[in-house]
Amino acid sequence: MTAYRISRDRMVRDQLITRGITDPLVLEAMRTVPRHLFVPEALVPRAYEDYPLPIGLGQTISQPHVVAAMTELLQAKPGMRILEIGTGSGYQAAVLHSMGLEVYSIERIPELYTRAADLFLRLRYRGLRLKLADGTHGWEEAGPFDRIIVTAGGPSIPKPLVAQLADPGIMVIPVGEERRGQRLVCVTKEEGKVQGRALDAVSFVDLVGTHGWA
Ligand code: SAH
Repeated sequence: MTAYRISRDRMVRDQLITRGITDPLVLEAMRTVPRHLFVPEALVPRAYEDYPLPIGLGQTISQPHVVAAMTELLQAKPGMRILEIGTGSGYQAAVLHSMGLEVYSIERIPELYTRAADLFLRLRYRGLRLKLADGTHGWEEAGPFDRIIVTAGGPSIPKPLVAQLADPGIMVIPVGEERRGQRLVCVTKEEGKVQGRALDAVSFVDLVGTHGWA
């Protein structure tokens, strides 16, 4: 276990702090969550490297720096309710849970949904809610959400997600008219006004669904 703790401390220092991540809550969560348990067994030795990694079924676990940067943009505080679209490995959801957020996460691929649910059970992560569905519809019964994070890239911002964002609220989502190439967009809602700010170029797998790619 200590070996992984050392890998995590090194990851936080070399990949996150040196690239400008400063939110103590984010840094502590990334020091705590056992990322090596969220990758396929054969890739465990590479879990703390500076790359996204394949998790099967054509999907990936995001690069640590991307997870940290998106999480920091959310300016999340413990106790807030957050919706994630694209559970995947469950790593991003675990980071948010570890920060004390009330996490709702949706995945559309049954195998990934089941795998993440089993892992959360094993890790005794309580109160993290998962759903198998097309997340571009959001999770209406559970909303509104103080924060929304989308970890797959679609051609536009799904309208139901904007509707389910609380006021005030922040959503971080990769958007791009071309597949595998997006800009990270930070959407804010305040006093009824919705604004979007395009940030860094990123490369996420497809957001597939009614309000995503066909
Ligand atoms: N947050 C994940 C990243 C996974 S990659 C992690 O930490 O590992 C993106 C995931 O989004 C994939 O698992 C993909 O199946 C899922 N996805 C794509 N479109 C979706 C949709 N409409 N609803 C829910 N999940 C979706």
